[in-house]
Amino acid sequence: MGSDKQTPVPTVDEDPPTPSTALLSFNTEDSSSAASDDSAAAAAASASKGKSFLSEKPTTTIVFISLLLLTCIALSAASAFAFLFFSSSSDGSRSALAPSQAAARPLVKLQRPVVLLVSSDGFRFGYQFKTDTPNIRRLIANGTGAEQGLIPVFPSLTFPNHYSIVTGLYPAYHGIINNFFVDPNTGDYFTMGSHEPKWWLGEPLWETVVKHGLRAATYFWPGSEVNKGPWTCPKEFCKFYNGSVPFEERVDTVLSYFDLPAEEMPAFMTLYFEDPDHQGHKVGPDDPQITEAVARIDWMMGKLIKGLEERGVFDDVNIIMVGDHGMVGTCDKKLIFLDELNPWIEVPPAWVQSHTPLLAIKPPPGVSPADVVEKMNEGLQSGKVTNGKYLKVYLKENLPSRLHYAASDRIAPIIGLIDEGFKVEQKKSKRQECGGAHGYDNSIFSMRTIFIGHGPNFAQGRKVPSFENVQIYNLITSILKIQGAPNNGSYSFPQSVLLSTP
Ligand SMILES: [Zn+2]
Repeated sequence: MGSDKQTPVPTVDEDPPTPSTALLSFNTEDSSSAASDDSAAAAAASASKGKSFLSEKPTTTIVFISLLLLTCIALSAASAFAFLFFSSSSDGSRSALAPSQAAARPLVKLQRPVVLLVSSDGFRFGYQFKTDTPNIRRLIANGTGAEQGLIPVFPSLTFPNHYSIVTGLYPAYHGIINNFFVDPNTGDYFTMGSHEPKWWLGEPLWETVVKHGLRAATYFWPGSEVNKGPWTCPKEFCKFYNGSVPFEERVDTVLSYFDLPAEEMPAFMTLYFEDPDHQGHKVGPDDPQITEAVARIDWMMGKLIKGLEERGVFDDVNIIMVGDHGMVGTCDKKLIFLDELNPWIEVPPAWVQSHTPLLAIKPPPGVSPADVVEKMNEGLQSGKVTNGKYLKVYLKENLPSRLHYAASDRIAPIIGLIDEGFKVEQKKSKRQECGGAHGYDNSIFSMRTIFIGHGPNFAQGRKVPSFENVQIYNLITSILKIQGAPNNGSYSFPQSVLLSTP
């Protein structure tokens, strides 16, 4: 029912069908009711002329009465059809219309709920249609999916987003505001290899889970190697990041956790794949290499599903498959050079903490950020700077509030929002390249990624409206029936997506 994913992405209908439009299309498509609609319309038209008819000859009256009778018959036939359709449609898709009223399916083999959170890095929403993805399609068809994809947080970068998914916090609150940044107080540099707890704020899911006396297992996830509270990244259940570990090995290890005795089995597990982000950066989102990478991710999901089936637990496990962000093609013609702003203001490389796609600038003490913003925007809007109109610079407190990107002193005072597909560089170079990037405004559609939930707590074949990934934390604590830490997600969100649990 509506789960055929052969439709190419660009033609995906923006407006989800509603029960009322479905009813409408039934009436107009079905030949018998279409006919009755026609006759009803004719009768209505003639009825409007009724007055004059009545004052005419008796034969006219007889014709009018028979028309009226016909109308009544046609109307009752139409309403009978409508009733039949409406009752069968609400039966057939009860779970799709009111999932929270339906109950979660009971566990068959497992003794308590288990959530397996899988991330495919840079899996742009729509990649699932690039090729035949039978396993992902199966999860979508039998699970709950975000109809127009999962919305990343700003900036749509890997570390900020992965950590938002597991903390329910926007980057300004969980502290990982970029893939790399400087602590303004200590001058220390954060890189993707920094594991000191001081960087990683908030309470990630593995910590919440362990706090409640359950086990967690992380097969790679940004932040998982960091000791936090009762989470000590135990050797057997916490893998230190190593990109050279084959995907198959990661899947096999996660599957082996399901062979453990019930009391030792982790209740929450993560699994991470670098693809198709890796290829997306090199060749952009439309290259056949992406298709290949997507097919390989699908194959890994197939391997995972098969392993769970062999253990008799596939239907018991809540699999949540997500990506962290999307991807957009970039090319050398879409560049903006800071040095071209020199007639208005000189922005030396030393002020720039990050060029692209998140432009972050911190002028030295004594230079007013507001003044820098004003002069930069003046230059950018002058029409004299190449592609200047595709970059707008803000004091962070003046950024659109929907970005939630101000409340941290780790965020540089000046942030530039770059239009989709454009890049900022310091100066012109001979380098010419096309590839892919992400990190842009999270309202840009190409930055969206996927969300699929499959398992006893998810309705089958259901589509939900797109949502931000900060909602996932509450979704998972709700499935595990544990109290989560305060976060930026909504407490009512899980009820709108999950099946109800007693
Ligand atoms: Zn990423």
